[in-house]
Amino acid sequence: MARGNAGRRRVVVLGATGSVGTQTLDVLAHLRVLRERGVIDADFEVVGLSACANARELQRLGEPWGSPRLALADPGAVADLSHEPAKTCLSGPASAEHLVRELEPDVVVASIVGIAGLPSTLAAAQIGADIAVANKESLVAGGEIVLATAQRTGARLLPLDSEHAAAWVCLKSLAGPAYTPPAAPPPGLRRLILTASGGAFRDRSRDEVYDAKPAEALNHPNWDMGAKVTIDSATLANKALELIEAHWLFGVGSDRLGVLVHRQSIVHALAECDDHGVIAQLAAPDMRLPIQAALTHPAIVDAGDRPTLDLASLGRLDFAEPDFERFPALAMANHVIDEGGTKGAVFSAANEVAVEAFLRGEIPFGRIDELAAEVTLGARSADASTLEAVIEADAL
Ligand code: MG
Repeated sequence: MARGNAGRRRVVVLGATGSVGTQTLDVLAHLRVLRERGVIDADFEVVGLSACANARELQRLGEPWGSPRLALADPGAVADLSHEPAKTCLSGPASAEHLVRELEPDVVVASIVGIAGLPSTLAAAQIGADIAVANKESLVAGGEIVLATAQRTGARLLPLDSEHAAAWVCLKSLAGPAYTPPAAPPPGLRRLILTASGGAFRDRSRDEVYDAKPAEALNHPNWDMGAKVTIDSATLANKALELIEAHWLFGVGSDRLGVLVHRQSIVHALAECDDHGVIAQLAAPDMRLPIQAALTHPAIVDAGDRPTLDLASLGRLDFAEPDFERFPALAMANHVIDEGGTKGAVFSAANEVAVEAFLRGEIPFGRIDELAAEVTLGARSADASTLEAVIEADAL
């Protein structure tokens, strides 16, 4: 497949109008400035952007990059574009996937939210691209097929979620800078630990928040994220999805994965080593760091005027064991990792449906993780080695 000219990196950003997508475009603009100043060799060029329905915003985001090819999942939204749509815009539910196959970019930033991101991530794996993975469900539901495909084509999975990017930094310090997922855990690793901020309700009991309203749950203390991820943070379903994702990226089983509640969101992941040393990655909570690190891997380059970490002014960092009774989603992560097959697709789908029902006011907050657990435990795990099987499990 095409890898581009020396230094040239053709990038497609899927889910470009979302929180990760827009921050990715900020980082790419910053990297272009570094390239112009001769600081980096890589010449990033945005050649394609996809979104669900926000045509005007997608078009606006593409403007600084000439005329990238656009894709809109909602065919009705194409009419909102202010130029000739047939020439420049793909449309329909499979348009992100088609965008990837048509452009054959070097890098695909997979930041579509939810299971809708799986087919385009799989397409990126099939063309052997570097995939900056922000879409958790691609791996949670489709880990088996995405990994098998990546191993066949040489596609690399560049962790973009803050915890996985941090875990990657820790593992590179054990394995060397070339270590790139999907990969086996490096020698010397005993346990990988992801941190969880605890979300909007971390200081309240399960009973107190059972009937909480969407507006309360959407108020995340540390991170500015989309609605789905913010609700998932409040139930720790987000952490459960991240544990499953870590299992696929770094090849670790549930017995070697842990979670620490860390309210400041400064330490993002830790690697406990065989010699009992612990390697941790610390950074101010800003998604642009992991995004940039994924794009420039293995190089570490200037972050410009983005905030630095001032530990002295923070003064303290707190850690606590998570309460598995309070947050049943964490036990679901272990169940999914241990059982394999379509369990990941079922858990991810059940959680997604429950979150949507909560946001529509149809179920109380406390029912989200109950429903996800009931459906996941009740489902029979089936073979998940084809896209059809995964989509079918997701639709149950
Ligand atoms: Mg995260």
